[in-house]
Amino acid sequence: MNDLLSPHLSESAAADRTLHNRNMVHADFDKAPFTIAWEVTRACAYACVHCRANAQPQRDPRELTTKEALQLIDRIADFGNPILIFTGGDPMMRRDLFDLIAYANEKGLRCSLTPTATALPTVERLKRAREAGIRRIALSLDAPRPAIHDDFRRVEGSWKRTMHILHNAHEVGLSVQINTTVARHNVDILPEMVPFIEEVHAVQWSVFFLVPTGRGQIDWMVSAEEHERIFNWLYDLSKKAPFDIKATAAPMYRRVAIERKKAEQNGDEPITFQGAGFQYADGLHRPTKGVNDGNGFLFISHIGDIEPSGFLPIAAGNVRRDDVVDIYRNHPLFRDLRSYDRLKGPCRTCAYREVCGGQRGRAYGVTGDYMESDPACILVAQARERGEVW
Ligand code: SF4
Repeated sequence: MNDLLSPHLSESAAADRTLHNRNMVHADFDKAPFTIAWEVTRACAYACVHCRANAQPQRDPRELTTKEALQLIDRIADFGNPILIFTGGDPMMRRDLFDLIAYANEKGLRCSLTPTATALPTVERLKRAREAGIRRIALSLDAPRPAIHDDFRRVEGSWKRTMHILHNAHEVGLSVQINTTVARHNVDILPEMVPFIEEVHAVQWSVFFLVPTGRGQIDWMVSAEEHERIFNWLYDLSKKAPFDIKATAAPMYRRVAIERKKAEQNGDEPITFQGAGFQYADGLHRPTKGVNDGNGFLFISHIGDIEPSGFLPIAAGNVRRDDVVDIYRNHPLFRDLRSYDRLKGPCRTCAYREVCGGQRGRAYGVTGDYMESDPACILVAQARERGEVW
């Protein structure tokens, strides 16, 4: 524990932190990310309301060439065997996609794919993706009702197409993960998603909490109180749902899960991180330490910019001129993001900062400061209500 912070922690909070550290499976995020998202292209036929990538219909001529992309995979493999997500834009818009996946797979990287719901993910292409080494695809679906989903994605027929791809994926033996972006458009109908996810045999529900990457999107975010309510609901659901549940871009779900578990257990029993929200049956061997932007997570943009995440779009370098391993380990931006004592406000003094730390991209998107407290956390909202300033 950092001594500078101890005066701000209550005794029980300090004990909590020690407990967390003792039970945390070691994952050295100073050395290597656990997950790398690679935006292989920004081209996409869609224009979704919340789109992080501000996707464009045409491929950018500055995109990495195949040769550069293969060189990047070589260097990524020097991190060990992180999960490599081929994303976009629509990754299917890149003609060499399957060659890149096959090469990454050969190098021992655990590859996943997030295709957009266009006409491109046919049975044949999904079969090629599987042959290249993909085991699971992630599909975005925000509601079991087509109208809500299509309205948010701004493409009529998108829901139907997504369902079509889902069936195609199952046909070729790919498992499917459903990603749902929680925002004002669907917050009230989330319970309807539960029987739906089960019915379509998705193996995981990744519940993604909106990170605003532009001022206009802040209005789409749900309140800190609503975040807290949904976290508690997800915790309850995770105990009985026949699919894995993952709260994405919401590290404070870990606080809720720990608090709930502690309340359920007898006083001195140690809290382990094997419970709901920390372990998944997806075979990806996720770490129990919280992954956060630049701290276990790395993003490569379509033109090779090296960023802490797609939601914290600050380039610390570019793979064409910089070494991605060196940037991740040593660039001041990445080092800042792994320095809990540089956080500001309630996140800095929080007993849960090492398992949570607040979503850095959201702090940046809302306040313009990536070390600020995460405004979607109830503890931060309550501190503001008490008139605390920092
Ligand atoms: S105050 Fe910050 S570190 Fe603590 S739980 Fe909330 S978001 Fe996480």
